[in-house]
Amino acid sequence: GPAVHVVGGGLAGSEAAWQIAARGVPVVLHEMRPQRTTEAHLTDGLAELVCSNSFRSDDAQANAVGVLHAEMRQAGSLILRCADLNQVPAGGALAVDREGFSRAVTQALEDHPLIEIRREEVTDLPPADWDKVILATGPLTSAALAEAILARTGESALAFFDAIAPIVHFDSIDMGKAWFQSRYDKPGPGGTGADYINCPLDEAQYHAFVDALIAGEKAPMRDFEAKTPYFDGCLPIEVMAERGRETLRFGPMKPVGLTNPHAPDVKAYAIVQLRQDNKLGTLYNMVGFQTKLRHGEQARVFRAIPGLENAEFARLGGLHRNTYLNSPRLLDATLQLKADPRLRFAGQITGCEGYVESAAVGLMAGRFAAAERLGEAVVPPPPTTAHGALLAHITGGHVEAQEESAARSFQPMNINFGLFPPLEEAPRGEPGKRLRGAEKTLAKKKALAVRALAHMAAWLDTPARAA
Ligand code: FAD
Repeated sequence: GPAVHVVGGGLAGSEAAWQIAARGVPVVLHEMRPQRTTEAHLTDGLAELVCSNSFRSDDAQANAVGVLHAEMRQAGSLILRCADLNQVPAGGALAVDREGFSRAVTQALEDHPLIEIRREEVTDLPPADWDKVILATGPLTSAALAEAILARTGESALAFFDAIAPIVHFDSIDMGKAWFQSRYDKPGPGGTGADYINCPLDEAQYHAFVDALIAGEKAPMRDFEAKTPYFDGCLPIEVMAERGRETLRFGPMKPVGLTNPHAPDVKAYAIVQLRQDNKLGTLYNMVGFQTKLRHGEQARVFRAIPGLENAEFARLGGLHRNTYLNSPRLLDATLQLKADPRLRFAGQITGCEGYVESAAVGLMAGRFAAAERLGEAVVPPPPTTAHGALLAHITGGHVEAQEESAARSFQPMNINFGLFPPLEEAPRGEPGKRLRGAEKTLAKKKALAVRALAHMAAWLDTPARAA
């Protein structure tokens, strides 16, 4: 039959091509390197790792990315197989020899009889005779194609600059100090009037915080970042702090319209607000806190905020060029562009974050496209799996995704347990012993992981139905 076209031979495109061919469906993989390269790639190898050589934790019990690894192995992932074969010692992490890894992926794809690799840039939306396409061109998608995608999807569809505010796990926030309230108790769309979490600072705490922001070590600007324009309204918090001691107190940290129920008579000098970030209410982002502080500095500086002393971050803030779609608005539940279902997207361009996540989204897109080609019903993995949780985040799990005004609030994220639906039943300890603290958290993670792997196995074993 006719081939599925995969554009981009990075982490996502390589995995997608492999999964499609594994189903017996022919693939043409288009990769622009070495003809044209990106700001970050250095070689012509497929699945080149542009920065770190780590696929992060390989612990499939206590770490969500470890669960994703395990699920990918279950699904016959090429990226995981080549990573395992090229592992370098890194404690509990899965780190790889980057050259050996990329060579192994390239070799496997080149050797596959159903895969044809074309070294060419795709500069426009695919021609009409490519009836099934996966676009996996990554955060550094070439300018010509990015423009064509933008023209097809509309003005607010692609973010070109990623200014990311930190995201905190709800259950690590001290609600003995923080409280739920919207400014002036105003309910937002679909809200209750108690939609934000507020953390109060007194005058001394505020000034110490501003000093820490200004003194904090910033990540250096990469060359290509300097050339990319800021979205207005996305200034890093430390840049705002440098503009004047009071700037934040009249900006994102203004203390108006809020009353602290823990100390109703004390007027806070400044307030940090956190906004719910996912449907489940397990994650909250720090409003207006996009930052270029180094990651270690962020954890230290932000944990000085009352209520966030023990904050655990699902992701820290950052700033770099990142081309990604407003996927919750634009893509359906199987990663197809609603406006043109011939096109499917995969990898970081869909708004996931990280090597492993990109490959996992490629894995799903490849399986979906192959199933369609074979006349089978396309069934996404359930949201209780790491794959399904990631897919739900990308395609609609985000609370504000449907709001026009919040078009930019969809943010790329690493897989984390906050994206998983809660357990039906809390894990229990030995009879007569109640689980607490860290022990309880670990038991919860383990139970989520066990459920995920069981549900992934069941999904993979489900016999195909006709479409
Ligand atoms: P990529 O791996 O970038 O693959 C896209 C491919 O498409 C590339 O090979 C590119 O050459 C090709 N391409 C682009 N446009 C076209 C076109 N028009 N026609 C044909 N081919 C095209 N994640 C981590 O987990 N750890 C890190 O340390 C890390 N560091 C990063 C550093 C930077 C500077 C950036 C930008 C991202 C980083 N990421 C990191 C995030 C992300 O995980 C990687 O970018 C990852 O490679 C994304 O996978 P992908 O398959 O979506 O895109």
